[in-house]
Amino acid sequence: MDLFEYQARDLFEKHGVPVLAGAVATTPAEAESAAAKIGGKVVVKAQVKVGGRGKAGGVKLAEDAADARLKADAILGMDIKGHIVHKVMIAGAAPIAEEYYLAILLDRSNRTFLVMASVAGGMDIEEVAHKTPEKLAKVPVSSVDGISLAQAKEIVAKGAFPADIADQVADVLLKLWETFQSEDATLVEVNPLVKTSDGRIIALDGKVTLDDNADFRQPDHAELVDLDSTNALEEAAKAKGLNYVKLDNGKVGIIGNGAGLVMSTLDVVAYAGEKFGGVRPANFLDIGGGASAEVMANGLSIILGDPDVKSVFVNVFGGITACDAVANGIVQALELLGPKATKSIVVRLDGNNVIEGRAILNKANHPLVEQAETMDGAASRAAELAAK
Ligand code: GDP
Ligand code: MN
Repeated sequence: MDLFEYQARDLFEKHGVPVLAGAVATTPAEAESAAAKIGGKVVVKAQVKVGGRGKAGGVKLAEDAADARLKADAILGMDIKGHIVHKVMIAGAAPIAEEYYLAILLDRSNRTFLVMASVAGGMDIEEVAHKTPEKLAKVPVSSVDGISLAQAKEIVAKGAFPADIADQVADVLLKLWETFQSEDATLVEVNPLVKTSDGRIIALDGKVTLDDNADFRQPDHAELVDLDSTNALEEAAKAKGLNYVKLDNGKVGIIGNGAGLVMSTLDVVAYAGEKFGGVRPANFLDIGGGASAEVMANGLSIILGDPDVKSVFVNVFGGITACDAVANGIVQALELLGPKATKSIVVRLDGNNVIEGRAILNKANHPLVEQAETMDGAASRAAELAAK
């Protein structure tokens, strides 16, 4: 999960990384009172999870609280690279002398953590890495040993930070490491880390990505989820222990058991859909090993809740859960859903007890359900129904 800048700022503050006062606002009036509380000049910053806000006009200096209101009014509602601004952060304004870059991230390809440090901060770090790679120090960090003070000083020296602030930057690096490790982050980035005209080092902009795999031991992270933008169906599926993924530009909803079967179903549907004007999968849901009526009903209601879905393809290979149990699950699911089930459902059953399973569906004779013998045939029919 990527955090907003104001959330990153709060985490930094919690772990002793030097930051400026900051408050979040959703209306110009809130921005004005937040600015009045902070006092003096402030910066009004668009809170969107995308970089380059400064260049896009989403970061504006305000002279006082009344000006902050005007600047917030201009920024709220702005579209920055496809992200609409719903919140702004009001932050104390810092007199900037220098802008640096400091980050810790999970380096998957090298199976380690990596610190990146540069005195060429503020701008696009990808550009620095590309055009002047010698200005970006990269130092691997052991996940077991972490960063010692001596190592932090070495990294800062390697990044060619000026001597007068080297110790301060090393200290910030240690605190960023503490943030990274104790919050189970995969990225902690400060750009810019600034030196103020009076010689202080402050993290002016923060980007943090948290590792969702660690949610079980980070109960506090639940409140950082941006409910405005998460897909409601993905949330509903998660709450029911199902793996649901929304896809772009598709029309066929897919339910299958097992990741391998579901993945190949996506391919087969996309391939079959070419004959029907490029029909593609709209989403997919893996019901896993079990396929009880309840699991099937939950799965179907989530898939049917996606307005993009025009037809559903249920592709099940009976293994430990036999096809007759799955067929019963589908029949009962449709009873549970009643009039909420409105789209055609193509079912392909194969494997353990397939004869019994097909017989159950034939007997139920539900008007929305069609059976197909093969996966290719089912994919083609589901695509055809979706194209109608
Ligand atoms: P980004 O463009 O999305 O990375 O947003 P940043 O928060 O990094 O802000 C972009 C630029 O705005 C920074 O590099 C600074 O030059 C400037 N900026 C941000 N906050 C302040 C501030 O408090 N005072 C001043 N003078 N400039 C700021
Ligand atoms: Mn930045």
